[in-house]
Formats: sequence, structure tokens, C-alpha cells
Amino acid sequence: PHAPTPTPLEDGQSSRSEAGRAPIIVAENVHKHFGSFHALRGVNLQVRSGEVVVVIGPSGSGKSTFIRTLNALDPHDGGSITIDGIPLNGRHNLDAIRREVGMVFQSFNLFPHLTVLDNITLAPIRVRRLSRAEAEARGLELLRRVGIEEQAHKFPAQLSGGQQQRVAIARALAMDPKIMLFDEPTSALDPEMIKEVLDVMKELARSGMTMLVVTHEMGFAREVADRILFFDQGSIVEDTTPENFYQNPQHERAKAFLSKIL
Ligand code: ADP
Ligand code: MG
Repeated sequence: PHAPTPTPLEDGQSSRSEAGRAPIIVAENVHKHFGSFHALRGVNLQVRSGEVVVVIGPSGSGKSTFIRTLNALDPHDGGSITIDGIPLNGRHNLDAIRREVGMVFQSFNLFPHLTVLDNITLAPIRVRRLSRAEAEARGLELLRRVGIEEQAHKFPAQLSGGQQQRVAIARALAMDPKIMLFDEPTSALDPEMIKEVLDVMKELARSGMTMLVVTHEMGFAREVADRILFFDQGSIVEDTTPENFYQNPQHERAKAFLSKIL
């Protein structure tokens, strides 16, 4: 029933210029506790379709927790989150939300006992009810897009870290999400593999995908981010353009953070 529409590659400019209509992510006063620990303390955010938002901040400031609330991997316990008009309340709408939101983790999280192609086709066959042939054709197309079509029949352990992360991106894209969340996608990679993953993410950004990316890769942020969010102690303390953020950080913690990483 859901024939996945191929993501437009050539038409990045026009899809990007459509950013500016109704926000696709709306978080209002979002709170999250782990026991007595108050991890998110009133996060407010609106992201428009096609925006690329880079999320930075000190370790433990709530970056991962926040993006995990956006696809309900970690349910929030105060405030509201709406994804593409769908309210995220408790266990309601969970499947609908997860279909809209793809996620890529630091640690790849591929299924070790499945080939690369089977990793990619599993969810489209089971959840989207695509035929195997359809899912495989689409999977191969996505592997071509991330530059590793020739690895389709290998197992994850036979691939480099950079290749595994590109498979993880292709796997997330196979569900045809409207939003992609990345949590430090290059932090576990050797330096020579970081670029190949960032290049795939840049292409995705240019294609008009809405993206939230937790990363300390400043080159990536400067090149493709529309906005930078700086988290500190469970809330967003700066929300501005990359130019503004790097040249003129307002918050003391942001200044201190930048002085350490630049
Ligand atoms: P960041 O990604 O910015 O480094 P996290 O969102 O992972 O930070 O964590 C924010 C805070 O919440 C940290 O103090 C962390 O220890 C705590 N935390 C995160 N996940 C859990 C959990 N599952 N149980 C208890 N505490 C957690
Ligand atoms: Mg984290």
C-alpha cells in the first residue's frame, strides 16, 4: 500500500526553500526524569520541514535524552511533543511516530546475524508490508546512495565502522522517514572514516531531509546546519545560527565549551 517515493536528490534547492511552513517538530515545555534526576527541564523547540539542526552541549546535558524523546525511545513525562501534527502521548501513536522518525546511533546497532541487505529490508517488509522484491530493490538503491552497494550481501562484522554507519543510515531511510535523528553518528569512528559518513549526511541535508544531529563536528555544523542548539543542564540555552553561535556565543557555558573544542 505504501509505495515509498524515492527521495529527490537533484531537487535539493527547491525542497529546502519550502522550509518555513508549519513546523514538523513542536516540543513545548518538555520534561523528563530518571528517578529523582531531572534530565530535561522544560525544553521548547520548533523545527520546520527541511531544517538541519545541530545539537551540541556538555556531556550529560540531556542531548541524547531529548532526541530520544522525539521518537519515544525515552518517553517524556511533562509537556508536549507533536511530530508532523501527531501528538506523542504515552503509548498512543507510537507506530505512526516511529514511521516518521528515523534514528542513527553512535554504535550503529545493526543486527549482526543479518546481511547488510537484510538489515535494510527487515522493517520495510514487516512494518511497511513491502514485498521482498520491492524492499530489496529499494534497499539496493539506498545502498547505492550511501556508496556501498557492493557490500549488500556481507555481514556487518565484515564491514568497516564507516561502512556500518552508512548501512545504519540506509536502514533508517528505508522506512521513508520525514525526520532523521542522529546521535553522535561519527563519535565511534576512526578519523579516516568520519568524512565518508559526514558526506552522506551532507547529501541527505541537501536533499531536503529534516535533521536533528547531535555532533561535535564543527565543519559539518558550519557547512550544513541552519541552526545550532546548545544544551546545558537539561535545557536549550542557545538557539541560533551557526555564524552567531561561533562568533558570538551568549551563554557562559557555551563560551567555555567552544574554547575547549575549537
Ligand atoms: P548527553 O547526551 O548530553 O551527554 P544524556 O541525555 O545522555 O546526556 O544524559 C543526561 C543526563 O541524564 C545524564 O546525567 C545521564 O546520566 C542521565 N541519564 C540518561 N539516561 C539515563 C537513564 N536511562 N537512567 C538514569 N539516568 C540517565
Ligand atoms: Mg549523548
